[in-house]
Amino acid sequence: MNTDRKALWAVRELGLPAIVKPCVDCPGTRHRPSGRFRVNANGKLLDVWLLLCCEACGNTSKVPVHERRHVQQLEPARRLAFENNDPAMVRALAMNASLAAKSGYRLDWTGTWRLETDLPFYSPQDPHSLTVFVGFELPAPIRVERLLMSGLGLSRGEVRRMVASGRIRLPLNLETKAHQDFAFTVEAGSGS
Ligand SMILES: [Zn+2]
Repeated sequence: MNTDRKALWAVRELGLPAIVKPCVDCPGTRHRPSGRFRVNANGKLLDVWLLLCCEACGNTSKVPVHERRHVQQLEPARRLAFENNDPAMVRALAMNASLAAKSGYRLDWTGTWRLETDLPFYSPQDPHSLTVFVGFELPAPIRVERLLMSGLGLSRGEVRRMVASGRIRLPLNLETKAHQDFAFTVEAGSGS
């Protein structure tokens, strides 16, 4: 009798990505959020910036979050989060890929996550099929192939062969960088 097994993998958050852009004061490029916003009201128009610190020299710079936004266009709760330097808002914007693209900087996710699995050992000969749910605590883009190698403890060649033969059924390409929850299935091995 084959019994389907299920496993949960979690991409745990170890820290925020570095914000990579030139510093005006030193040759450094890596920045961290300072934990604060600057909000300027000019009549009915609001400007909101996320404040950053250069990791090398501590120089403060700012990233525009809202520019000349009409006060009434901004939800009061959102405005309050900016005014109170809400840490959840800082975290969300510091990881926001579209803000990065809009503002012309890159996010470096190195060292921001680790994969935690409840799967102590996986054998490719396993006679049971296995469904794995992968949950992301943070939207770190991680190559699917790397997740599978790490989580299943298999080599790149083994993972590629199992995907090519249909043993591993995935909703994404191996080369894709996943950044949000997905699930995949490993079909039962021939076993014996
Ligand atoms: Zn600097």
